[in-house]
Amino acid sequence: MDLSYTPEEEEFRVRLREWLAKVLPALPAKPSPDDWPGRRAYDLGWQRMLYDAGYADVHWDASPTTRLIFLEETEKAGAPYVGANFVGLLHAGPTIAAEGSAGQRARWLPPILRGDEVWCQGFSEPDAGSDLAALRTRAWRDGDDYVVSGSKIWTSHAEVADWCELLVRTDPVAPRHRGITWLAMPMDADGITVRPLRTLAGSAEFAEVFLDEVRVPVANRVGAENDGWRVTMVTLSFERGTAFVGEVVACRRVLGELARAARENGRWDDPVLRGRLGRLNAEFRALWRLTQWNVSEAEASGGVPGVGGSVFKLRYSHARQELYDAAAEVLGPDSLDLDRPWVLDRLSSLSYTIAAGTSQIQRNIVAERILGLPKGR
Ligand SMILES: Cc1cc2nc3c(=O)[nH]c(=O)nc-3n(C[C@H](O)[C@H](O)[C@H](O)COP(=O)(O)OP(=O)(O)OC[C@H]3O[C@@H](n4cnc5c(N)ncnc54)[C@H](O)[C@@H]3O)c2cc1C
Repeated sequence: MDLSYTPEEEEFRVRLREWLAKVLPALPAKPSPDDWPGRRAYDLGWQRMLYDAGYADVHWDASPTTRLIFLEETEKAGAPYVGANFVGLLHAGPTIAAEGSAGQRARWLPPILRGDEVWCQGFSEPDAGSDLAALRTRAWRDGDDYVVSGSKIWTSHAEVADWCELLVRTDPVAPRHRGITWLAMPMDADGITVRPLRTLAGSAEFAEVFLDEVRVPVANRVGAENDGWRVTMVTLSFERGTAFVGEVVACRRVLGELARAARENGRWDDPVLRGRLGRLNAEFRALWRLTQWNVSEAEASGGVPGVGGSVFKLRYSHARQELYDAAAEVLGPDSLDLDRPWVLDRLSSLSYTIAAGTSQIQRNIVAERILGLPKGR
């Protein structure tokens, strides 16, 4: 494993850094957290700027190391978060790039990179979250279409999405992992109802999605019929392996801000708090190393991240919760004031150990697939 950067990669870093320094001061203000159409427009606008400057393709076409440099530099500079483009850029797009036909890649990838279209993820259902293979949303063939009925839940960005990476059951009698198909569903099709759900932090960032005989062209199927579980594993390996890595840099930035705030408000004199911030610093440095290791492994194995992503996801989501707990310590009584920085982030951080697969499930994966322990079931 080689964690050093080549001269070309370092050159890319410098060029990107200079570009960010030029464009970021002129960006418009971020819309409020509940203004979803505004957030969509803002996130797509930023993606378009990246595209026009030649940086959009780092997500798929550049080497994983270049992608890592991109994430590191954009986060360090405080560039906009990927936001509404999360699913499209970080796991639906990479899945289509890896598993789609040439026609599908030509249809769906350029609009994601240009910032024209937003994707959401329709995997979870009321009784199929951790046990994803229990999903019941049905799809049956009618001519050139699948007809889809059922419901999805916790669908992030569903309200503003153009497309949904959707899992459906196409063979109800096959063993449950074998009767699933991965479809790209247009969110403006007839028969789709989106009902927003409000999170603890107050934002309606995800939704229930009800599907009533929605017609999805067979041509929108990625992979073979009933082979969707295999395609899903590719999606999840991107979601857990690489989608959150930029946020480690963001966490390191917040940690620096916390240390500064603690020095200013006198909390720095508390040795217990100092020790806590120091441990978090070590933790995030280690997570960054782990990220580099995962990326280097992915590079060596053709681009799809391996099971190491579960180790990353597990530790990252807990460290991020611990970071915002430490923020509450720094803020003291102000940590109950929702207008203070970090307070809403702390409420959101509670969901990290659930979203993209709970910690218990990541531990099961690590136990079975890395440590080789016997399967629980
Ligand atoms: C902020 C957020 C955004 C999300 N966005 C999306 C999205 O865009 N699209 C989407 O499809 N889904 C999304 N999800 C759903 C997420 O993937 C699921 O919540 C997650 O997979 C857990 O499933 P569940 O909620 O059904 O919990 P359950 O599966 O009911 O689990 C309940 C508890 O039981 C534990 N448990 C269950 N089975 C086992 C087992 N075999 N071994 C040990 N413990 C077990 C779980 O770990 C958990 O603690 C999102 C969730 C959150 C919180």
